[in-house]
Amino acid sequence: MTEGKYRHVHVVMELEDGKLVPVSLEMLGEARRLFDDFNKKYQSNEKVIAVLLGHQVKDLANQLIEYGADAVICADHPELKEMRNTIYTKVICQIASDKDLATKIEPTYGAEFKRPRYMFFAADSIGRHLSSTVLTELESGLASDINKLEINDVTITHQSKTAGKPVTYEKTIEMYRPDFSGFLWTTILCLDNKNPAIERDYHPQSCSIIPGVFEAITPDESRTGIVLDFIPTIDQKDLAVKILSRKVIKSEVDFDSCKAIVSFGRGIKDSPDENIKLIEHFAKVLKAEIGVSLPISKKPFPVNQSLSNNYMIPDRVIGTSGRKVNPMVYVAVGISGAIQHIAGMKEAELVVAINPDENSQMKDESDLFIKGRMEDIIPLLIEELKKQEKTVEA
Ligand SMILES: Cc1cc2nc3c(=O)[nH]c(=O)nc-3n(C[C@H](O)[C@H](O)[C@H](O)COP(=O)(O)OP(=O)(O)OC[C@H]3O[C@@H](n4cnc5c(N)ncnc54)[C@H](O)[C@@H]3O)c2cc1C
Repeated sequence: MTEGKYRHVHVVMELEDGKLVPVSLEMLGEARRLFDDFNKKYQSNEKVIAVLLGHQVKDLANQLIEYGADAVICADHPELKEMRNTIYTKVICQIASDKDLATKIEPTYGAEFKRPRYMFFAADSIGRHLSSTVLTELESGLASDINKLEINDVTITHQSKTAGKPVTYEKTIEMYRPDFSGFLWTTILCLDNKNPAIERDYHPQSCSIIPGVFEAITPDESRTGIVLDFIPTIDQKDLAVKILSRKVIKSEVDFDSCKAIVSFGRGIKDSPDENIKLIEHFAKVLKAEIGVSLPISKKPFPVNQSLSNNYMIPDRVIGTSGRKVNPMVYVAVGISGAIQHIAGMKEAELVVAINPDENSQMKDESDLFIKGRMEDIIPLLIEELKKQEKTVEA
């Protein structure tokens, strides 16, 4: 019997150099919006709980309350200063299973509490890894790279889960993710097994959330909440990995100081070498840096070695698996506009897309959509830009 044992949402915060990364506040904002509705709809008093790990990070707790948390559980410990997956997994699982903490946060639900109802992590390189190891430990399911969430009662008939009979699952989180290169939405449900022969709970229902898709709420200094300290149990064997020094390697591709970025994707396919050279020329005239879509970094087409070394590299990827950019002008050449790519460039002031397919998602994301093949369009743009340059010089 699920009801009663699983309460609240735990939102796992992510820090970089002791500062919250934006996706932490975005996840908190979405949790707040969901739980305001949830508590109204189900006449409950479940909480949005921020889980904060680090060293000397307690000062951030008030900020988390202003951004929507009802409670902050803070594990502040020197061994948590740097993110190490083994220790972080252990401490997050300890917090998720702690009845005393849950009782302090909401005494009504304390006695029966077993685990959080839901858990959210960031869908970046740290959160993707962490969420998978935490959910393995907690023996429940995980949906990765989510960009839409709803909580509903759903009726399911499933051979194994419900022994072929319709069963209504209350308070189920529907987790949406783009699949098949971003062209199809998949809804993922993490359901208890209600088949009497193999009955078993699958809670917390958990997901990792794509950075940039949800908005943080406007901070409200008058919000109040509880801040609880958690003293983690760390064994010597958890400390096998030691961080002797940590250096963030700055990318050689400088997207931050340039006003324009020209990015290209698999649309170069008809003549990759020539098209990359064309884009290179275009970027030079536009004084732009060059970005790519994720598949390009995996070198999908054979091209001249120096072009490949220069451009088909992870450092140039724009999106959730790469960089987030906000230039004045972003030109997407031969890019279809998958959600993971859009998350990296949607802050650009002006978005221009060059694509022969007017049904591509990139059209919806662009201020100016030029329907056509790059081979035909880019030479015209170069010619026009050069003309304008001459006019300005004269
Ligand atoms: C977990 C995960 C993370 C991801 N992270 C990222 C990420 O950070 N960044 C990212 O980019 N992707 C990411 N992806 C991949 C993403 O889902 C898409 O598969 C990818 O962005 C598609 O790349 P594309 O637009 O280059 O290729 P396609 O989707 O193949 O699109 C090619 C486009 O080129 C157009 N085209 C064809 N011929 C021409 C021509 N002659 N001239 C102009 N246009 C032409 C086509 O109409 C089409 O729209 C991720 C996927 C997953 C599952």
